[in-house]
Amino acid sequence: VPELPEIETAVRLLRRVAVGRVIEAVHLLHPSLGRMSPALRRSFHGARVTMAERRGKHQLLHLADGRTIRVHFRMTGDWHADTVDAERPRFARAAIDFADGTRLVLVDPRALSKIDVHGAGAPIDLGLGPEPDDPALTAKSLRRKLANRRGAIKPVLLDQGVIAGLGNIYVAEALWRARIDPRRPAMSLTPSELTRLLAAVRFVIRRASGARYRDRDGRIMRLDVYDREGDPCRRCENRIQRITQAARSSYYCPHCQV
Ligand SMILES: [Zn+2]
Repeated sequence: VPELPEIETAVRLLRRVAVGRVIEAVHLLHPSLGRMSPALRRSFHGARVTMAERRGKHQLLHLADGRTIRVHFRMTGDWHADTVDAERPRFARAAIDFADGTRLVLVDPRALSKIDVHGAGAPIDLGLGPEPDDPALTAKSLRRKLANRRGAIKPVLLDQGVIAGLGNIYVAEALWRARIDPRRPAMSLTPSELTRLLAAVRFVIRRASGARYRDRDGRIMRLDVYDREGDPCRRCENRIQRITQAARSSYYCPHCQV
């Protein structure tokens, strides 16, 4: 699953490859992405990309005509940059051809990525909370936000409306670092625990900044707790446990996360 630094990397690629270029055509190559009306297809011809930005795990490509193309990788999406005369890569699900022959291909083995187009002038409500590095995000603001959340802190932190962009790996790593049990009711966290949690969230994101959580061979980079079921905790040497919360795996140390 692409985590926030991987989306940052993807947006940097969009800035390098797409921004400033003029679109020749957009192709949707897989039924999961739906179909474009002929009018929409024609409307992309000659559209210039002016800006690329990340909001949570969404990628936004702004066009000079005011429209925005929104891309979400979901599980296995990624960009592949080549040229229009190259053979399409395996698992190509969408492609943006540029007038100068550059091409951007959305590659996605599981075909769960989403692309949609938002009209000019329409505000895009992605239902996102503050970014982790937003100075307005404080232990106090987080405490207000969690005040009525009886659910366990782990799935609550995956709610993009609480903090934007946190995924399963980050949340596991942050809760381990903050020594908080993922099963604790969100509303039960004390101010000092929330301070620790926020510092931990920011730490794990900085640690991964610009990197990918999987290396070229698909191995997960060194993590403290995620995917380490049965291995010794790096802090207390007790065994890491895996439980399922809201249909996702949670990894934690039952000894030092309380
Ligand atoms: Zn431990």
